[in-house]
Amino acid sequence: MKLLRTDVICGKCNNPITQNKALVGASFYERDGQPYCKDCFEAQFAARCAGCSKAILEKAVIALDVKWHKDCFKCQKCKEPISGNTFAVQDNQPLCTECAGI
Ligand SMILES: [Zn+2]
Ligand SMILES: [Zn+2]
Ligand SMILES: [Zn+2]
Repeated sequence: MKLLRTDVICGKCNNPITQNKALVGASFYERDGQPYCKDCFEAQFAARCAGCSKAILEKAVIALDVKWHKDCFKCQKCKEPISGNTFAVQDNQPLCTECAGI
């Protein structure tokens, strides 16, 4: 039996990004027609979360002029995710209106 695979070369680190076609889902990213491995793509293009400093690959929350993972944008006091548009700020960290006493 023959394995079906293609080798895609990452445009940044030049390492082959091996794709096994028998598996579902490709593990490389493309930008301007150039393939990148996950690590390079994250390092190069992805925004960093202000909460956990990791790359944001899904929809980001923009607040306090920085980007956050949806799950990282939470109250610094009660650690509950902040939903809705109202929140308070303390030391550049979000606080829910309840903890802020608004
Ligand atoms: Zn790479
Ligand atoms: Zn985060
Ligand atoms: Zn809170």
